[in-house]
Amino acid sequence: MSYFFDRRPRVLPAMRYRVDDFSFATDNDQYRLLLPAALYEELRERCIADPSRETGSILVGYYDQNHARAVVTHLPPRPPDSESGRTFFRRGRGGLQRLLDRLWPQQRHYLGEWHFHPSASPQPSHIDDAQMRRLAETVEVRCPEPILVVLGNPAGHWRVSATVYPLGRPIEMRCRSI
Ligand SMILES: [Zn+2]
Repeated sequence: MSYFFDRRPRVLPAMRYRVDDFSFATDNDQYRLLLPAALYEELRERCIADPSRETGSILVGYYDQNHARAVVTHLPPRPPDSESGRTFFRRGRGGLQRLLDRLWPQQRHYLGEWHFHPSASPQPSHIDDAQMRRLAETVEVRCPEPILVVLGNPAGHWRVSATVYPLGRPIEMRCRSI
């Protein structure tokens, strides 16, 4: 479970700056993800707003460094036609296409999904894996390597996981925040 990451702001003594962006990478460094601290906080606030139910939406951003790293820049709201309960979340589509169309000229596009596991581990479930596999195979999504970010708070400790699904196969991304 090495990719679980207890979020505590840390100060590096030598450099004296607060390191709080989330940087994830697969072991071979082929896939990387940057989730800026401010956006992580927004995700956490959305989870706290309704702490006993799953919630989520899509991740929007861009790829840099020759497609090697996905950078999250926008967190669209939860589509109003989404359905959720304590242990499930089915993301709706309402409003997302219009938002993606609006962001397209800024070269911001769909990167993947995020959701919340209330009081539970952020490890993706088999259902999560199956949903991501379907997304990776959906031509219209135009994202053969979608990323799934899951927030969880087992025993009150906030944790986050990131998984990339190239061709639908899950590959864990470890947190490399320094
Ligand atoms: Zn899940």
